[in-house]
Amino acid sequence: DIVGSKDETFESFNLKRELLMGLFEAGFEKPSPIQEEAIPVALMGRDILARAKNGTGKTAAFIIPTLEKIKPKVDKIQALILVPTRELALQTAHVVKTFSRHMGLQVMVTTGGTSLKDDIVRLYDPVHILVGSPGRVLDLASRNIAKLDSCQMFVMDEADKMLSPEFQNIVEQILEFLPQSQPGRPNNYQSLLFSATFPRTVKTFMDRHLYKPYEINLMDELTLKGITQYYAFVDEKQKLHCLNTLFSKLQINQAIIFCNSANRVELLAKKITDLDYSCYYSHSKMKQADRNKVFHEFRQGRVRNLVCTDLLTRGIDIQAVNVVINFDFPKTAETYLHRIGRSGRFGHYGLAINLINWNDRFNLYQIEQELGTEIKPIPPKIDESLY
Ligand code: ADP
Ligand code: MG
Repeated sequence: DIVGSKDETFESFNLKRELLMGLFEAGFEKPSPIQEEAIPVALMGRDILARAKNGTGKTAAFIIPTLEKIKPKVDKIQALILVPTRELALQTAHVVKTFSRHMGLQVMVTTGGTSLKDDIVRLYDPVHILVGSPGRVLDLASRNIAKLDSCQMFVMDEADKMLSPEFQNIVEQILEFLPQSQPGRPNNYQSLLFSATFPRTVKTFMDRHLYKPYEINLMDELTLKGITQYYAFVDEKQKLHCLNTLFSKLQINQAIIFCNSANRVELLAKKITDLDYSCYYSHSKMKQADRNKVFHEFRQGRVRNLVCTDLLTRGIDIQAVNVVINFDFPKTAETYLHRIGRSGRFGHYGLAINLINWNDRFNLYQIEQELGTEIKPIPPKIDESLY
């Protein structure tokens, strides 16, 4: 299991009593390895760049020190948490609220696809912690509606995604609104960057914006531990049939099924429904309100299967998901890792099944190599204790 090895406890971090209460009530008893590594260093005020596998508790690793540093009596935005999607923003804010329920803090979520006016109105009231996606945060900051000049904690979850070409520019602009400092000196705010994957682009950003960051890397060979991975060679035309067989044979608690395009998501969802299996779908071309509803209800366990694009790959944490099916095989090892990391969360077991067509085969070998993992041919019967 996944309890840290240093034998730290949450008490040993000397946290505020209200925060400890929130943690314990949320069922957090002992810190996980990434929490053991990151929390004490973050509490010392140091910038952090941390890498740890999916499902190991990165969220709490940045939320706990962030909450510890917030002064409830100061009615200013003191922490900014940037994440790539609305779903992840809601989920992250939910954890912040749960942990801080005895602290009397105001937490606000702001992302694109929702009414800007509503956000403006909500910012009339004090907000201590702002959780959002980059575009909307920049919008609010540059109109001087969200005032970030007292923000002392800057967090990026899924940091590599946040620094991809899609977002990097926006993130850099947001940083201009945080309290500035002299070049070569520590910033007047602290930065915590977390992800499971860190490509080179992050290094450039780190050199520019972080001050002597403490680097944590807990990836090692355990990356995909707990997740059994299989592939089945199937023709494009046979995929649905194959999926149907999987549905009838597997003990699915909840499953996420990935396709490579919005179109294919909708088509497949319809076919699954025609087969009489309950199923929702989600992709970025849908209205935000519909996406929220789908995500919410799936998380509540009201429906067993979710078909989606990579929109939902990052960070989403639903412990009931024990099976991930790549109906379409992903193109990169990074996407693969994030997709199948949706199962096997926090020490649970999980199953990943890849439908591979002839053209995918090189990708399969490539991904196996890159991740140093083994994706085996699917056996006639899958041991239920594996997931
Ligand atoms: P990551 O971001 O590293 O992929 P999450 O932060 O989403 O992982 O955590 C995965 C799951 O583990 C969550 O459901 C979370 O509530 C749970 N969890 C994290 N840390 C602890 C802990 N110390 N004790 C109990 N549960 C934990
Ligand atoms: Mg996460």
